Amino acid sequence: MKTIRDFDYDKKIVLLRCDLNVSIKDNKIIDSTRITSSLESINYLLKRNCKLVILSHLGKVKTIEDKKKYSLKIVYEELKKYLKDKIKFVPYTNDPIIKKEIDNMEYGTCILLENTRFEDLDGKKESNQDENLSKYWASLGDIFINDAFGTIHRRHSSNYGISKYLDSGIGFLVEKEINNLQKLDNPSRPFAVIMGGAKVSDKISVINGLIEKVDYLFIGGAMAFTFLKALDMNVGNSLIEEDMISTCKDLLKKYKNKIILPIDFYGSTSFSNDSKKEMYFITDFPKDFIGMDLGDKTLEGFKKELLSCETIFMNGPLGVYEFSNYQNGTEEIVKFLTDNRKEVYVGGGDIVGCIKNLKLDKNITYISTGGGATLEYIVNHDLPGLSYIGEK
Ligand code: AMP
Repeated sequence: MKTIRDFDYDKKIVLLRCDLNVSIKDNKIIDSTRITSSLESINYLLKRNCKLVILSHLGKVKTIEDKKKYSLKIVYEELKKYLKDKIKFVPYTNDPIIKKEIDNMEYGTCILLENTRFEDLDGKKESNQDENLSKYWASLGDIFINDAFGTIHRRHSSNYGISKYLDSGIGFLVEKEINNLQKLDNPSRPFAVIMGGAKVSDKISVINGLIEKVDYLFIGGAMAFTFLKALDMNVGNSLIEEDMISTCKDLLKKYKNKIILPIDFYGSTSFSNDSKKEMYFITDFPKDFIGMDLGDKTLEGFKKELLSCETIFMNGPLGVYEFSNYQNGTEEIVKFLTDNRKEVYVGGGDIVGCIKNLKLDKNITYISTGGGATLEYIVNHDLPGLSYIGEK
């Protein structure tokens, strides 16, 4: 595969797609791993006397209000700490001003454009890979480097789209991710995946592929409730997806011995951090109870099973990790895995943030900047963002 090392950049205009999609809370970046992981390619290119144009998305942009929430200005401020006066923010995604800025910039400097998903307000032109938008962005540069691993499983205009129209290669981060994740092609067994997060529907295609590859699939987070409902359990007021119940039923029937579900939960009667915290077995859930974190017996059971596993991939928080009272389950499992020196791979924004907070990142075998991308890679190596790399 053509890489960032394979081009002559002197006096060229280089488009670099990064994944700067960081989690933000109260106007602060919670975890800047995706920013720091992008610096190797940025610095390499800045040293090679080119004009560098950086593109990225941030969050999901569905309304005008989302534009305020998801401006890349905050990411620019963080990048500036590393790149000083070598970087400028250009708050546009599709405007003649961008071309003027490129004309006027010095070689050896970069500009960061505004969130590519601002284009989604106009008929999802970024996320649905609009041909004209892809061509427009490609027209701005001479070479395209895709270093956005977290988005490599998506057909966006700013990754897949641009690579259709421009000579292209992968950056250092994408190369590193692929080299490390390849080790999961032949994992030491038993191989387990621990999945958390909110929705089965977001992950069902990946679950269908994953279940064939793993020895165990541990399910936590709100996803667990749709599976438990499929077993005719009373899940109180917990978050479920009615339209996924029959799919979960089929999975449970076919893979009874692989799917491991929680049996008790901490939670409350309102979805908040402050209301009274209680713990119930799934068999005793009160009608109005909302499960928000794994219970003690579940943790005990999960740990016992995990002890026999050699390789573990963890994706997504196992409870409502944003609420300080419901972080324990996720943290306990991470600590347990690292204490027992398992081969642990981790991917996905929330879980990476959790591991860094706990200062356990040094004990993890590999931390990926991708969540969905990493899962897609494990399942079938199908990464659309790579389809046209080196083809032009
Ligand atoms: P995802 O983006 O699918 O990885 O989901 C992450 C989200 O799942 C986080 O915002 C968590 O708060 C949420 N989540 C995890 N467990 C639960 C739960 N029991 N109830 C509601 N949301 C949950």
